[in-house]
Amino acid sequence: MTKVKNTAGQASTAKEHSEQNQQQDQLKLKMCKIKHKIAVISGKGGVGKSTVTVNLAVALALHGHQGKVGILDADIHGPCVPKMLGLKGQRLIGGPSGLLFPVTSRLGIKVVSMDFLLPNDEAPVIWRGPLKMRLIQQFLSDVAWGELDFLLVDLPPGTGDEPLSIVQLIPDMDGVIIVTMPSEVSEAVVKKSVAFARQVGVPVIGIIENMSGFVCPECGAKVDIFKTGGGKRIADSMGIPYLGSIPIDPQICNESDCGSAFIAENKSSPAAKAFAEIVKKIEEFIEKADVTGNQVKNYQNSGV
Ligand code: ADP
Repeated sequence: MTKVKNTAGQASTAKEHSEQNQQQDQLKLKMCKIKHKIAVISGKGGVGKSTVTVNLAVALALHGHQGKVGILDADIHGPCVPKMLGLKGQRLIGGPSGLLFPVTSRLGIKVVSMDFLLPNDEAPVIWRGPLKMRLIQQFLSDVAWGELDFLLVDLPPGTGDEPLSIVQLIPDMDGVIIVTMPSEVSEAVVKKSVAFARQVGVPVIGIIENMSGFVCPECGAKVDIFKTGGGKRIADSMGIPYLGSIPIDPQICNESDCGSAFIAENKSSPAAKAFAEIVKKIEEFIEKADVTGNQVKNYQNSGV
């Protein structure tokens, strides 16, 4: 009797294992068609992480990568990328092969988000870690991402289940971008994000300080509403690149609320220029990493 039970149990475990292996193979296959995978993280909520993710995606699309940028909104409990890109109310459509198709924004940005699966705005997601990990895995392996230059992953704040799942699941992640804002409370948690990235072995591409001062639209003078400069100080003290500062601009909030990407509509604003500079630095980081990576590969292939 016990023997039969064991055999049945082993059979089902073996089936689960082979399903898992199949899904992992599918995930690797999908991810190798995406040139660069970058996670955007923050120590705490409300610092503008999703705003930065969306505007970086738009900036990349405008800088020669149109139709080749994707966003995985991995904030299962508070997804807001669809709203910021004017995609609210859209649904993920399934194809005949069981694959899901991302929703595409005006600038050709491919988006996948829990928001596309929820019945309405009030519906909360009350899930534990393993279920969230499974969904994230499916968002990576069962979605027809196609060939992309960049996949940006908007992670929920902190260093919990979702950030850990993403860095464990995505092979060859280029690195993480850490978003902070000028306050001692935010600065303290940035260090946790850096420590998290270092512990899981993912490079830190750099730190962005969002809501860093306010540029008066009348006279162009910069007013430091909060204590600015903390992001740069931490970057310098921890030996991490500082990517740049994005000022407060009420238009960023207005455009996000209306679902139209800020930098696409306000190209000459100081905030849009800051985003453009940050994109250049990200591209420089990636170029350098590619050269170093290729040197390592060539060295290994040379048989030395
Ligand atoms: P997080 O993802 O860190 O929780 P959000 O990106 O949702 O934060 O931003 C929180 C709010 O702050 C949003 O309403 C957004 O429009 C606004 N916001 C973010 N950055 C700026 C900025 N630089 N200037 C003005 N408003 C901003």
